[in-house]
Amino acid sequence: MQYFDYAKQLEKRSAEMQTAIRKSSTRNSFPSMMLRAAGNDHNLRMNVLEFIDVLPSLKTDDEIYERFMSMIGSHKEALPTLLRIGVFFFSRRYLRTISVRVLEWLIYHQLAPYFIVGSEKKLAPLQKKYSKQSATTNIDFLGELVTSEREAEYFLQEYFDAIKRYGNKKTVFNISIKFSALYPFFGPENYAESMRRVSESFARILRLAQEYNVSVTVDAEYYAFSRLIEDIFCEVIKRDEFKNTKHVGIALQAYRKDAHRASLRLIEVAHARQTPFTIRLVKGAYWDTEVAIAEQNNWDSPLFKEKSATDSMFEVVFAVLLREWGNIYVSPATHNPKTIAFVIGNLERKGILADPNFTFQVLYGLGEPVRRALCKKGLPVMVYVPVGDIVKGMSYFTRRILENTSNEGFLFQLLK
Ligand SMILES: Cc1cc2nc3c(=O)[nH]c(=O)nc-3n(C[C@H](O)[C@H](O)[C@H](O)COP(=O)(O)OP(=O)(O)OC[C@H]3O[C@@H](n4cnc5c(N)ncnc54)[C@H](O)[C@@H]3O)c2cc1C
Repeated sequence: MQYFDYAKQLEKRSAEMQTAIRKSSTRNSFPSMMLRAAGNDHNLRMNVLEFIDVLPSLKTDDEIYERFMSMIGSHKEALPTLLRIGVFFFSRRYLRTISVRVLEWLIYHQLAPYFIVGSEKKLAPLQKKYSKQSATTNIDFLGELVTSEREAEYFLQEYFDAIKRYGNKKTVFNISIKFSALYPFFGPENYAESMRRVSESFARILRLAQEYNVSVTVDAEYYAFSRLIEDIFCEVIKRDEFKNTKHVGIALQAYRKDAHRASLRLIEVAHARQTPFTIRLVKGAYWDTEVAIAEQNNWDSPLFKEKSATDSMFEVVFAVLLREWGNIYVSPATHNPKTIAFVIGNLERKGILADPNFTFQVLYGLGEPVRRALCKKGLPVMVYVPVGDIVKGMSYFTRRILENTSNEGFLFQLLK
């Protein structure tokens, strides 16, 4: 009986969340229409991604025209009316220049800003807007998978500059970092040197962050990096100089078959250092790519194949971490109303919904309806804000498009 009461309550809460999120979302904006079209047609989805990826490298209007027509124009029937009209104009030679400018404007000034904040100047007004509604921010300075020492040095310096610029304010400043942005040969095949170089950079970031009262969270990346990222994180935060740092965290992906094991290891580290840190629990953003890599190599995928298995693992790991509340903190980062309802139910039962160490996390732009719904309920929310231009943020941009055009994803169901 108790179980049925609980299930009924969960269902009701999830339906309420879903209604609140739907009410706050816009279905008729250009990004929503574009994502809906791409999500409904697999080939168009792949071609949109490829076109956006090559666009910055195309030099002339004719090159843009050729690529656009072969990749997207050939799927006219699947496009929203606005773009179908664009295709018509594109095919008129005398209108080509203006059509190309309109297309670039749509991608760089309509679609990209739906996911990314293009310039740091926009950050202060945004933070102000969120703080008025009691939401905090976590800034991600876009960049990952660097290919040269110079690039790695650039990103490290960018993290240092941001910590100095935004730190030491009344409220703690939150920053997210990616280890693959700190060393060009980062990866398990170069384990020892990746460990040495990135531990050193991470320690320098944490040292400065402590001085400036900044909280640092390490993002989760490709599965192949996961063990290395966790090893570096654990080794550094256990050092004497960092073992009392509370303002540090790491993201953990529930789509990993080994997510439960990874959570137990992090709990062990929290016990060993005797100071809590935060785990941002996510489902995982690299699913399509990881599955493709595993298939190409005939590997057994290290990720779940079924969406329901990822959802269940998220709930299991959340419950495991919640049991350890105080030794470790968990911050769920999801836009799914059912998952949010599960989290709220568990927090209520444990009596920590109002605990100052708890916060939900959502993504800038597409998580906006969820943020509004949570803020309306008076629940704490942190918005993950990616900052940088589209070229630096191309991988991030691609992941968000994949996620929002996946039939399995909640957000795509919302757009349908
Ligand atoms: C604030 C914030 C920070 C984030 N940081 C990170 C990060 O550091 N690293 C990272 O990887 N991701 C990160 N993400 C993205 C996150 O992992 C999810 O991709 C995204 O939130 C969508 O999941 P959902 O729970 O919101 O939606 P849902 O629609 O409930 O779930 C979609 C997710 O389910 C999983 N999935 C989809 N299809 C299948 C399938 N067939 N089998 C198994 N699993 C499947 C995928 O993980 C997919 O992203 C972050 C998200 C947020 C909100």
